Amino acid sequence: MKPTVINRDQHVVSRKQMSPEVLKVLYRLHRTGHLAYLCGGGVRDLLLGRKIDDYDVATDADPRRLKQVFGNCRLIGRRFRIAHIMFKGGKIIEVSTFRKQGEEEEATDEGNSLLIKRDNTFGSPAEDAFRRDFTINGLYYNVADFSIIDYVDGRADLQARLIRCIGDPDIRFQEDPIRILRGIRLTATLDFQVEESTWNAIKRQCHHIMECPASRIREELMKILRRQNSHRGYELLAAGGILEHLFPRLEEFRLACLQDESTSADPLLQHLGVIDDLRSKGVEFTDSLLLATLTASPVMSSFETLPHGSDVAKWLHQYLEENFKPLAIPRVVRSNVHLLHLALRHMVAEKRRKRRRSLRRSPLFADALKLLEIHCLVTQKHWSALHRWQRPPMNRQHRRRKTKDLSSRRAKVCQSEKI
Ligand code: ATP
Ligand code: MG
Repeated sequence: MKPTVINRDQHVVSRKQMSPEVLKVLYRLHRTGHLAYLCGGGVRDLLLGRKIDDYDVATDADPRRLKQVFGNCRLIGRRFRIAHIMFKGGKIIEVSTFRKQGEEEEATDEGNSLLIKRDNTFGSPAEDAFRRDFTINGLYYNVADFSIIDYVDGRADLQARLIRCIGDPDIRFQEDPIRILRGIRLTATLDFQVEESTWNAIKRQCHHIMECPASRIREELMKILRRQNSHRGYELLAAGGILEHLFPRLEEFRLACLQDESTSADPLLQHLGVIDDLRSKGVEFTDSLLLATLTASPVMSSFETLPHGSDVAKWLHQYLEENFKPLAIPRVVRSNVHLLHLALRHMVAEKRRKRRRSLRRSPLFADALKLLEIHCLVTQKHWSALHRWQRPPMNRQHRRRKTKDLSSRRAKVCQSEKI
């Protein structure tokens, strides 16, 4: 199969935009007689003029040969061996040998699973391009002549800002349902649209999502929440029917809110919208805070309706376990989310000063304050609580001086009353 070759003078990708480490890897492969292509998200992001954090390189050198070519190389992966080329300062460039589409799982009792189990056969550059998920991820940058090699019409889709599956989308999503989340993540982060047949297939195949290992789902989901435009990612998860599989309880709450005539808005979407606004102003968010924000609305409204005398902490623990355990969210993050919700409840309720001081000293206080601010921005309530908590605490000297001032003022008043 002949690809379209886009010469150097017809594209914007320049070596100046690449890190010295990835250039070293590409040149070393080229000098030792191998094909050396920058591939995947790297080429896509360079063509879009975006910053890149991770580079993937594809080559015809097999892993054993890579070990010979690079002294600073470590082979990882059991089924398909990928080379990690290590540099000073912890930088790693991932190099993989061209491979072809994996083999399907053997037929199960239900009949015809397309889930890919084996993905470890070396292939040609064309086969390697066609096994990739979306057309915009199937482009190569060839260091030999600085051209871009396009087997899959990825350039046209990049220009049209479209996420389109390579091949039949129904089959590609069944082979590896994680592609559904990857497609949604790319659409949101790049602010693209999903091409129509790809979108229809997402809606038809979304029930396969929980067949993926929980760690891969979590990884993609957290990338959606961590990157810009997370509210759009959430919106697509809901519209595509994926939210109902990932978080059935959140979906239940979302539908109830949409049916409620007094609100008829989706508060989860509003919370993530505020996160995106703050993020664009440089505010940073921990994973615990992102997940606490995602669940803030249902949790706060359940707190209001729990019967008097209920064990709130127990209820909350159970609710968070139900939502987050199936996605293998780490225990420490689940426990931080738990504490953040209790802190938010305490902050808006305003309790005793002693509790106030211990919350301020907690390592989670900065996150709790951000959560309170997000909640205020969405609900347009609790502003006085926010201002109170944002004020720096009085130190002991200041407090003593204030008490002294107060008592001398009282003494003066008493004296003047006597006169
Ligand atoms: P980013 O690094 O910005 O998260 P990316 O597209 O580079 O995005 P990676 O996980 O680094 O994502 O994957 C590198 C490349 O490997 C992708 O661009 C794509 O070509 C291919 N790829 C990754 N996951 C899959 C998959 N599940 N199915 C097919 N191809 C995939
Ligand atoms: Mg990448």
